[in-house]
Amino acid sequence: MKKIAIIGGGQAGLLMAFALMEQQYDVNLYIDRQAEELLHGRMMSTTMFFADTLAFERKLGLNFWESKAQYGEAIHVDFRDPQGNIMLPITGFLHNNHGIAMDQRSKYHRWLEEYSQRGGKLILQNVSPEDLAQIAKTHDLTLLAAGKGNITRLFQRNEARSVHLTPPRKLAAALVVGDDLCGPNSWADQPKQTLHFNFIAGAGEYFSMPFYSHTHGACRSFLFECIEHGPMDVFDHVSDGEQMLAAMKKAVSIVTPDQSFRMVDNMELSDPNAWLKGAFCPEVRDPVVELADGGLVWGIGDTVMVNDPIAGQGANNATRMVEHYLQAILTHQGDTYSKEWMQEVFEQFWQQSGRYTTEFTNMLLNPPSESLLQVLGAAAQKQVIADDFMGNFNHPQGFWPAVAGAEGAASYLARQEFQDAVA
Ligand SMILES: Cc1cc2nc3c(=O)[nH]c(=O)nc-3n(C[C@H](O)[C@H](O)[C@H](O)COP(=O)(O)OP(=O)(O)OC[C@H]3O[C@@H](n4cnc5c(N)ncnc54)[C@H](O)[C@@H]3O)c2cc1C
Repeated sequence: MKKIAIIGGGQAGLLMAFALMEQQYDVNLYIDRQAEELLHGRMMSTTMFFADTLAFERKLGLNFWESKAQYGEAIHVDFRDPQGNIMLPITGFLHNNHGIAMDQRSKYHRWLEEYSQRGGKLILQNVSPEDLAQIAKTHDLTLLAAGKGNITRLFQRNEARSVHLTPPRKLAAALVVGDDLCGPNSWADQPKQTLHFNFIAGAGEYFSMPFYSHTHGACRSFLFECIEHGPMDVFDHVSDGEQMLAAMKKAVSIVTPDQSFRMVDNMELSDPNAWLKGAFCPEVRDPVVELADGGLVWGIGDTVMVNDPIAGQGANNATRMVEHYLQAILTHQGDTYSKEWMQEVFEQFWQQSGRYTTEFTNMLLNPPSESLLQVLGAAAQKQVIADDFMGNFNHPQGFWPAVAGAEGAASYLARQEFQDAVA
């Protein structure tokens, strides 16, 4: 039986640990924090998990929230000019591509409980670079799934695949409750549980979604992606939850005055830790680290592909990577896992899936091209195009050819089903 070390108990590490355990591998999962500490700590993200991710979790029996959390069933985007006027509104229904936006604290805590109940071996250790040699020596395969942890700096930046030298956005986020912000009819004038996106020229973007957290059940997330020195860049001074709420109200009133009514007087954080701010530089890294003694460490998830959250892909990409690595591990022949094999498995993933995720994410950080505007304009006119386009958040390679320049956009829009559809 192969012995596998997984360092990091997040989306990538936990899913991989469950999947390998199910296949009778001998798994040791290293986590830097107790499940309880995680549950009562600061929120980590405002993550939307799309349908394919949920399907994989369901296959592993880890879908504990499908009857509790609301499905996000549609994406509504308002593209706005610098004054906040809506220039292009689009609503796409997600149909089978729908998903659940939920608190990663709730998820990882429950999964860690489940992992122990299924007999999984947990080692509480904040793994340092020095610890890695010992871990690699005593396991057949060592996976690093440490998210944005400092230890991931061991992995070399891939210059050709990394376009950012500085963080493209300053992030601020919170989970809130208050009149009309939560529940089945929480976004007036929108027909279903809608993820609400605003793209404001010169200011950045903000996203508000029906959300689930263990602290409050149904709540609402807000994520502000602020362009530095732009009109939405008002979060620098924030150092507690009250200040975050006040800054959110200010940001919304500056860039989308028509949405200010959503910032209700009785709005509160869903719990005192339900806010975050920060910035990071997206990067694609080489997937393998060779230690001084020749030991190998294989990166997965954010450890090797960290994208800005603008396209809601980090956890979904990590899940796709788990599925891909898992198949490679299950079909691997021989006693040892070579560096070349690890690189090759990552490369296949990059070519089939990862590069589309990164490229699409980076595209959203720039103003839309002429040809993309044509596609979006058509989506605003025909529901079938809007639904098809928005559904691709579940599998970003589907955005091609629509986003691949003038020719790609033309061939996408020429599809028969779009031609046949009435406006
Ligand atoms: C504001 C925001 C919004 C987001 N929205 C979305 C979204 O809508 N959709 C989406 O798919 N993604 C989203 N993401 C990204 C998503 O949260 C991450 O991409 C995803 O969690 C990555 O999974 P991972 O397993 O690689 O890392 P993580 O989930 O971060 O897990 C890493 C784990 O490793 C542990 N760890 C770190 N260092 C060590 C160490 N030295 N030893 C032991 N353990 C260690 C950490 O404690 C953590 O538990 C968002 C992120 C942010 C910040």
